[in-house]
Formats: sequence, C-alpha cells, structure tokens
Amino acid sequence: MRFKFTDEQEAFRGEVNAFLKDALPSDWEGADNAIDDESYEFGREFLKKLAPQRWIAPAWPKQYGGLELSHWDQVVYNEAMGYARAPIVNTAAVGYLGPTIILYGNDEQKAQHLPGITSGEVVWCQGYSEPNSGSDLASLQTRAVADGDEFILNGQKIWTSQAHYADWMFVIARTDPDAPKHRGISYFLMDMKTPGVSVRPLINMANGEGFNEVFFDNVRIPKTGLLGELNRGWYIATTTLDFERSALGGSAGVQRTLEDLTRFAKAESDGAGGRLWDKPLVRHALADLWVSLDVTKMLSYRVVSMQARGLVPNYEASIIKVFSTDLIQKQARVGLGIMGLYGGLWGDGPWAKLRGRLAKSYVATVGTAIAGGTTEIQRNIIAQRGLGLPRQ
Ligand SMILES: Cc1cc2nc3c(=O)[nH]c(=O)nc-3n(C[C@H](O)[C@H](O)[C@H](O)COP(=O)(O)OP(=O)(O)OC[C@H]3O[C@@H](n4cnc5c(N)ncnc54)[C@H](O)[C@@H]3O)c2cc1C
Repeated sequence: MRFKFTDEQEAFRGEVNAFLKDALPSDWEGADNAIDDESYEFGREFLKKLAPQRWIAPAWPKQYGGLELSHWDQVVYNEAMGYARAPIVNTAAVGYLGPTIILYGNDEQKAQHLPGITSGEVVWCQGYSEPNSGSDLASLQTRAVADGDEFILNGQKIWTSQAHYADWMFVIARTDPDAPKHRGISYFLMDMKTPGVSVRPLINMANGEGFNEVFFDNVRIPKTGLLGELNRGWYIATTTLDFERSALGGSAGVQRTLEDLTRFAKAESDGAGGRLWDKPLVRHALADLWVSLDVTKMLSYRVVSMQARGLVPNYEASIIKVFSTDLIQKQARVGLGIMGLYGGLWGDGPWAKLRGRLAKSYVATVGTAIAGGTTEIQRNIIAQRGLGLPRQ
C-alpha cells in the first residue's frame, strides 16, 4: 500500500512552507527544548504572524477562529510546522483547552476565552499535577470552596509548564471531599493575575525554566470560571487529556534531525582515514532509526484515519505516545554515540555538532516519557484496553 497526500494537500503544504520561509529568519535552525525569555518572546511574536491566516488553531470551527481543517489537512499543516521546527507556544490552549471549552463551555465562556487564543494574545497553562498526585491524578488535594458568587482556592500544583509566562490557567480542584475521588472534582478557568496566586520556577535538566510550582492562597475565582457542572470536572479533565494525547504529525521534527544526522555521518571522518558512514555499525544504527520513524509515522496515520472516520482513538493514541517517546530518546542516544565526544557539546560553537541539538534532546526527552501520562501508564492502557489483560 502506498500513502499519498492529494495534490490540494501538497499545494497547502507548499503554502505553509512559503509562509514559514518568510516568517522565520533565513538561518533559522529551530526552537530549543530549553525555553528562555528570548525564545519565548520570539514564539509569541510568531503566533501573531500566524493569527491573520487563522493558522493558530486551524482545526477549530470557523465560528471560533479556525478553518475547520480536515484531519488529514491538519497532518499536512503539523508536519510542515514540525519539519521547520517552528516555535511552539500555547499548545495547551490550542491543542486541548480550546477544544474542551468548545465542548463544555457556555456561550459567555466561549466568547470570553476563545478569541484570545486564536489571536495569540492569551497564553494558558495546565494546572493538573500536584506533589502527591500525578499518575493517580484523581487523588488531588487542592480545594475549592463556594463562597457567594465565588470559589476560594487553596493548595498547590507542580510541574506546570510555562506557568511563569501564562496569563490564565485551567485548573482542577476538589469541591466535594466526601464524594468518591472521581466525583468530587471541578474544572476552573483562572486568571493568573488573581491575588493569592504565586509561581516558583523549577529548573529542568536542560537548564531551562520549563515548568513551575504554583501556589494558591485564598484565591477567589468568580463562579463564571467554573467550566461545566460542579463536581463533574474529572470527566472534562479526561477529555482534555484525550486531546493532549492525540496530537497529530509529531514525527516531522524527528525526521529533520535524522536527515541532519545521516548527512553528518556521510560527511564526517571516522578519525581513521574513512567516513563514519563507511562503518556498518553506523549505517545499521541509522537504518534502525529510519525504520522506527516510519513505524511511528504509520501508527500516527492510523489514529488520523480513525479520527477522519469519526472514531475516537483510545489505546491507539497511547501506542503513539510510547513509540514516539522511544524514538526521540533513541535518536538522541544513538546520535550522540555516532557523533562522539563533540556531540555532547551544547551551543552554537564550531565544535558543537548539529548545534548541540542531540545533547539537549538527550536530557530534555527524559521528561517526554513522563509528561502527559508516563510510559508505564500508557503501557497499562495498552495492556488493559488494547490487549484485554486484567488490571493487576
Ligand atoms: C516535561 C514535563 C511537563 C509537564 N507539564 C505539566 C503541566 O503543564 N501541567 C501538569 O499538570 N503536569 C505537568 N507535568 C506532570 C506530569 O503530568 C506528571 O509528572 C506525570 O503525570 C507523572 O506523575 P508524577 O510525576 O507524580 O509521578 P508518579 O505518578 O508518582 O509516578 C512515579 C513512577 O511510578 C510509575 N507509576 C505510577 N503509577 C503506576 C501504575 N499504576 N502502574 C505502573 N507504574 C506506575 C510512573 O510511571 C513513574 O515511573 C509535566 C511533567 C513533565 C516531565
């Protein structure tokens, strides 16, 4: 079987590529895994360039600022963006919160929040995990208590990506401590500037301020900030997670780096009068990566084809999460082995091979296996729902 995009889809890819050529600097090599203030600001400016085309959230319905792209058109768009290593800002809002508001929000909430996302002006973060609640998220302890027209929020979140830049947070909290744990949780939309919210950055292994601790000290959220029904937030929160795990077209960035690595092996000396490429071990390692890339891409096309037929992927999305995490970690590990000691240098200097991309990826992708549900949790889902194995 041969997969092929239509002529119209290839023309669309060309349109996105032409836009990117204009919108990004000519020597653009891509955003780093370790976000700093400068790259974040660059990303926000980039959003403003996407907005006039309605390309911030092209999958969304037209009435909410999108283009209603088909699932396959979204793949084309995401592949072009990924291959160009375009800046990624506000993924949580575009990819998962916005679609959740479209499903569960009332008219006022849609009117208040969706335009700010599609114009690139309002950035969101996701307040789910707590110090003792990650995989077992429903055990969360942050409390929200009704008080007149408001809820009063107290507690703590952790690992909140980009909270130090975000304008708003979607946050889940316990509103009925006496109910079974999944039934006493509610989902709130909260302005990060509300008094009582404090953010403390955590430095990750890639030396970046990627995520944070967020503390709530008597934070007053107006009742209009409650999304969906009181105490039904768990079901809304898992819808958000489904959107998070079904991201499409993510392997294009890996392909670009694999092309760079293959070119590198063909050009570089092995230090003994030949090229790295002449060594069978190097060629086999690269071939293995190319095969893994193709497998990951086909698995993700399988999910797209399900979505295009109106089916809801479940354990199939978990399979992609496991495979793509494994692929990106393997690429960093194998790539560093091929490049030798210079591959371990970071930065733009002449000795840092491929601008230190794989060295940074090596440390940054440890977190990829944890974020959005760990690899072990995905394997549990595949075992139970995909293979029908018992829970214990
Ligand atoms: C880069 C990054 C970004 C993140 N961004 C956000 C964010 O923006 N917002 C947010 O809310 N959270 C975020 N997180 C947090 C993330 O969702 C949690 O770290 C994740 O859900 C795991 O929870 P935990 O860290 O508490 O680990 P735990 O749940 O304590 O797990 C510890 C270990 O035990 C294993 N384990 C746990 N339960 C089981 C089980 N039932 N079966 C088998 N193994 C199990 C896990 O796989 C893991 O290896 C982020 C994390 C990372 C790394």
